[in-house]
Amino acid sequence: MIILGLDALDFSMIERCRCRNLMQTECGQTSLSGFQLERTVVLWASFLTGKNMESAIPVKTQWEFKLKPEETFFPVFKTYEAIDVPAFSLKEKQHAEERRLLKAYFDGEGTVEEYDAVVWKNHEENKKVFLDALGRFDMVMAYFDLADAIGHLSFGIPEKMDKVYKELEETAQEVKSSSNELVLVISDHGMKPVGRYGDHSRNGFYSANRKLGLNLPRITDFRQIIEGVAGNEPS
Ligand SMILES: [Zn+2]
Repeated sequence: MIILGLDALDFSMIERCRCRNLMQTECGQTSLSGFQLERTVVLWASFLTGKNMESAIPVKTQWEFKLKPEETFFPVFKTYEAIDVPAFSLKEKQHAEERRLLKAYFDGEGTVEEYDAVVWKNHEENKKVFLDALGRFDMVMAYFDLADAIGHLSFGIPEKMDKVYKELEETAQEVKSSSNELVLVISDHGMKPVGRYGDHSRNGFYSANRKLGLNLPRITDFRQIIEGVAGNEPS
């Protein structure tokens, strides 16, 4: 099984860009009911555990929060690779650098271009590791923050966001062409424009390359589905 975790991948943007490979066979919006805020680490931790983790993760130290493997669905697979997954295998230094440059921009001490360059570089590095891992593990989950990170400073600039969605669409296409496994594309939350900037919105997204028959699933519903897949696939 392959999970493509795409931060802030927005349902309405996917429809607007007609990203067929991201939409796959079944797709829709996820429900964030029960969550007060759309916090990235909280939502990914909730996806991994199948439980609402909002009260367990303090805002101040959220980026350092780590789940143990046995708290997640990963160990139900004989072999797994989790690439840059928040609350689990996040490359803390890379993301701290992105947050530092974001702050520097708002403090007038850095440019959007410097920030974007680091975000794209991290994306390309993770993509290489991800494509290399396909077919070598029973479960591969990769996390990409491109849509979120670029969106925060540029969601109101269509050319820049089109480039981001085109890149993510191409990544989904590469996954599809190299595998017959179940592919789940999932985001934690969506994004809405605030002038040229972007902020988290509640319309998260999921898709699968086979019919799952879901209707507005909660982000916490997927653990059971994923573990069902692990139980049914020959190992
Ligand atoms: Zn996020």
